[in-house]
Amino acid sequence: MDLGLASDDLDKCVQCGLCLSSCPTYRVTGDETMSPRGRIALMRHVQHRGAPLTAEVVDAFETCIQCRGCEPACPSSVPYGHLIEQTRSVLVASGASTPWWQRLAFRQLARPRLLRAGTTVLALAQRAHLVPQRLGLPARLPLRRDPHVVSGRDVYLFTGCVMDAWQRDVHHAAARVLEAAGCGVTPTGDAAPCCGALQAHAGLLDETRRLARRMIEQLEPDVPIVVDSAGCGAAMKDYGRLLDTDEGRAFAERVVDVHEFLAPILDRLPTVDPLDLRVAVQDPCHLRHVQRVHGATRTVLAPFVRELVELDDDGLCCGAGGAYSVLHPALAGTVRSRKLAAITRASADVVASANPGCTMHLAAGGCATLHPIELIDRALSEERAPGRPPRRSRRRSSRG
Ligand code: SF4
Ligand code: SF4
Repeated sequence: MDLGLASDDLDKCVQCGLCLSSCPTYRVTGDETMSPRGRIALMRHVQHRGAPLTAEVVDAFETCIQCRGCEPACPSSVPYGHLIEQTRSVLVASGASTPWWQRLAFRQLARPRLLRAGTTVLALAQRAHLVPQRLGLPARLPLRRDPHVVSGRDVYLFTGCVMDAWQRDVHHAAARVLEAAGCGVTPTGDAAPCCGALQAHAGLLDETRRLARRMIEQLEPDVPIVVDSAGCGAAMKDYGRLLDTDEGRAFAERVVDVHEFLAPILDRLPTVDPLDLRVAVQDPCHLRHVQRVHGATRTVLAPFVRELVELDDDGLCCGAGGAYSVLHPALAGTVRSRKLAAITRASADVVASANPGCTMHLAAGGCATLHPIELIDRALSEERAPGRPPRRSRRRSSRG
């Protein structure tokens, strides 16, 4: 079967195995077919030698978390993320993967009103103890959401789909922090309801392209697009390659992660007393391995908390992987247990992670987790609180 993969890309893999220790599914199973090297070998067998798409082969591709931890570890620069994304799209087209009910569910992500109504129903069901914990939903979905507020047009704040329905408070925190740095913010809201990241993960690339074109049409040109979800930001920065158009490339150039945006203008934020917290930073894979701007999280967060601490697991994935934790709960849970062990060793008060999927997945494992921007907002808010005694002058820490 032709998987539509470029032979040059497949041939880059020299089977050295240097990626194996960076692969969460290989680390927890020890199974070669669950490794980047093994999956690339299977791609070659299918594309070049006509190997059949057996259930085992499909399972090897479907169980990849698409964390792309293997890419920075690879000395041959194999574009693994693009290989698996394309492979998944051919599996979908051939009917071997992503059944109709999953496709239907993914399509609803671009319908924000329906998503919010569904969230309210789920929130009510949660309060009636009708939602099993194993689904990994946030402990308390919101029954209502404060509306977005437009404060100017210096930047767009991309609000997205599930995150806007389930974690809108994070967007509000990001908007307040951006405003504190002097930026007028326009939340994208329902005008651009979904970036297509989850759909691309599931192999629904045509749906992702449709959403990308819609977003490019809806947002005014020349305004930076700030993103506070690592997965969404990575997908939107890839629109140039995905669409292969000048419009797509120009749009992608405007996309910036919120920490990446704030780091060079940090001196515009008020100097405040840091929160008395020891915070462990958990890098979302799409910030660390794909966007590669995870250093900015530390730069921006360090002045606002007492102490930042690194996890000792070399940035291994937490197992969230878009909808992966829902579709492969057992494997996702096993991968998460390694992350939770690293978090326990760090002895932190709270974990900071800049991706909604990661924060939900870790929280479902019993871990206190916040978005870094929520911590910054909290530090700034405490400083603004009425009745607070005048603060002594303090230099901002340069930690991180
Ligand atoms: S993907 Fe890269 S690191 Fe992994 S086996 Fe192939 S060449 Fe080696
Ligand atoms: S993307 Fe992640 S899970 Fe998939 S092969 Fe690479 S390291 Fe392993």
